Amino acid sequence: MGRGTVFATGKIQMTSWKDQQVLIVGGGIGGLAAALALARQGIPSQVVDQAAEFKEIGAGIQLGPNVFWMFEKLGLIESISALAVFPNNLVMLARTIAARL
Ligand SMILES: Cc1cc2nc3c(=O)[nH]c(=O)nc-3n(C[C@H](O)[C@H](O)[C@H](O)COP(=O)(O)OP(=O)(O)OC[C@H]3O[C@@H](n4cnc5c(N)ncnc54)[C@H](O)[C@@H]3O)c2cc1C
Repeated sequence: MGRGTVFATGKIQMTSWKDQQVLIVGGGIGGLAAALALARQGIPSQVVDQAAEFKEIGAGIQLGPNVFWMFEKLGLIESISALAVFPNNLVMLARTIAARL
């Protein structure tokens, strides 16, 4: 898709998305995934976040199977798999009756 930049002289110069500067506000999962997806297309972006630094929050994150479609598209399967723990089974307990579901 083309986009135009209008100069003070009134001249309009057509540019492509790749010439545009992309600013991503929020460097959480969505923001960083968007930045990586853009980078894979050769489109640079800047990510800004209200936090002073990017750091680990919490003990870990449980990932459902569907997210691996996105990891595949982003070329992250190998690096994520190297860090991930793959449980052999999963036991779900009902908090109210303290029993297995
Ligand atoms: C305790 C907890 C446990 C969770 N566990 C899991 C799990 O195991 N598995 C799972 O799939 N999901 C889990 N989730 C949900 C998951 O964390 C969210 O779905 C996911 O982080 C949402 O991503 P996001 O990019 O939309 O937002 P976030 O990851 O929250 O990112 C938003 C970012 O925007 C920044 N920001 C906000 N306002 C501004 C502003 N005005 N200017 C600049 N920056 C700003 C924030 O600092 C933050 O870095 C958990 C959530 C919580 C709270």
